[in-house]
Amino acid sequence: MSSTLSEFQIIKRYFEGVGEIDSQIIDLGIGDDCSVVTLPPNQSLCFSLDTMVEGRHFPKGACPESLAKRVMAAALSDLAAMGAKPSFFTLSLTLPEANLDWLEGFSKGLRFMANAHKLSLVGGDTTRGPLTIGVQVHGLVKKEKALRRSGAKEGDLLIVTGNLGDAGAALKLLNNDAVNDVESYLLERYYHPTPRFEEADLICSVASSCIDVSDGLLADLRHISAASFCGFEVNLEALPISAQLQQFAGEGARSYALNSGDDYELLFTVSRDAWERISDDLGGLKFTVIGRAVPESQDIKIYSGDKEVLIESEGYKHFE
Ligand code: ADP
Ligand code: MG
Repeated sequence: MSSTLSEFQIIKRYFEGVGEIDSQIIDLGIGDDCSVVTLPPNQSLCFSLDTMVEGRHFPKGACPESLAKRVMAAALSDLAAMGAKPSFFTLSLTLPEANLDWLEGFSKGLRFMANAHKLSLVGGDTTRGPLTIGVQVHGLVKKEKALRRSGAKEGDLLIVTGNLGDAGAALKLLNNDAVNDVESYLLERYYHPTPRFEEADLICSVASSCIDVSDGLLADLRHISAASFCGFEVNLEALPISAQLQQFAGEGARSYALNSGDDYELLFTVSRDAWERISDDLGGLKFTVIGRAVPESQDIKIYSGDKEVLIESEGYKHFE
């Protein structure tokens, strides 16, 4: 259903009251020329912007509720990777038309994520044009405690949360209608990735470096490697792969795990001692040691047993 609602009516109906306003921080939300926040003492603000364009990042006609969840999860995952707690977000929305059904679904997805992760929508911009969704999330972290990509040290363990490769495999399925259990699991992992805040909570005081896997394990590991000036050995057999991906891709599962993006798992390094201290009580969360940091001169190498294997491609790169 298309409508003649004005921009302001749209904002009021679909974007006001998304998430609960934390009045300790938010002085002024939607409705004025700017939003106003006051940061608590000794906290730093982390923020990250994610944009999704129809036809580029998602297929035409994709479910609006899922899109909202996915763009929020992608942006929130960056906060998790820094060890920050979500606080508020802004939304830039470019719409071809004011389709009320679409807006209703999109707003529902936003509300779900805002409530689940305790952040509120405090402002944004709404324009007409090809469907494009931009979300900027803001989170708080104790001053000087943000987890960066730099900081990995030779000998540190390389660890990843959850499973790898599921979302990448789902890309093959985006235009399929009838799907079986395995396929719907993979699609669920693509559309509804889980920002790993619980895992981040456990590791934030011990990790020496951290990144979220958005472009692919190897591509993102390369960012840690460059920022930390160290190389890595990765154990191919250790890569965490879901039973569903194994069933879907067989021999190809490891290639998805190494190279495909969109999983939004956390990849981090930690000293052996620190990991030993905390690894007895991981609260049922999934962490897998997949390798270790080595001198920078050794670059990134993948091993199967004690044999080195060659890698063909590294993740997803825009503009190439
Ligand atoms: P201005 O013209 O001063 O930039 P706008 O008319 O764009 O203001 O927006 C009016 C108010 O609505 C502002 O507070 C703005 O932050 C908010 N807003 C606009 N679009 C959105 C959106 N998509 N989501 C949330 N808030 C929005
Ligand atoms: Mg103004």
